[in-house]
Amino acid sequence: MRYLIISDIHANLTAFETVLADAGQLGVDYDFVWCLGDVVGYGPDPNECVELLRTLPHLCLAGNHDWAALGRLDIRTFNADARKAVDWTRKTLTEENLGYLEALPITFVLEDFTLAHGSPREPVWEYILDPLIASLNFPHFQTDFCLVGHTHTPIIFRVINDKGESEPVTPNYNERTAIGNERHREIVQLKEADTRQIINPGSIGQPRDSDPRAAYAMLDTELLTWEFRRIPYDIDAVQDRMRQADLPDRLVTRLSHGW
Ligand code: ZN
Repeated sequence: MRYLIISDIHANLTAFETVLADAGQLGVDYDFVWCLGDVVGYGPDPNECVELLRTLPHLCLAGNHDWAALGRLDIRTFNADARKAVDWTRKTLTEENLGYLEALPITFVLEDFTLAHGSPREPVWEYILDPLIASLNFPHFQTDFCLVGHTHTPIIFRVINDKGESEPVTPNYNERTAIGNERHREIVQLKEADTRQIINPGSIGQPRDSDPRAAYAMLDTELLTWEFRRIPYDIDAVQDRMRQADLPDRLVTRLSHGW
């Protein structure tokens, strides 16, 4: 199976549409979509993003922002801007789309892959930001691979020894595709490392690795190839809609910079 792997759309319809166009055709270029959570929160298009996702054959996990929009989380730990965006998202989402978010699972296992928004240990909340946290998470899933989002940073953590220590591998998007030099990808052979791995495709709607382009991935579970991809989108258009919705300035600005 070929999977389109997406995460942290964060109500950014322009980025989501750009990624879908770049990913190619359903049934030709990929067969199914795995979405690792945070469909909503921060961005101006929560209903549109949920509705577009629902047109695709997909499995989606619950993220902390999806739960926040449902009122399931105590958002006092969120910063003021995030809280304001949560309140706006909650009152903007339709009953039907809230119902969709309510039904999302927090983990999923299929064949060699475990899926969670944050981590296998704390699926909704924990950030796997460094090799130490990754190492602590490997005992919490049984499969060879675990896919996560939440940090908005594309990365792979690989186990490197019997003690379960791990090292990070970040994509450098060195393979340029035929349609110009703004769109980048990097293909990783998951089998080559011959070890267990935790893999993050990065964020579609609010990247935080100093690269403002939308990030996503393609996974072929037969060839065991993982392809990191990066694609520019019309950030200005999203920022205009955010200003119209009176979403916090800091959230508008950060999209230009990828932090
Ligand atoms: Zn997120």
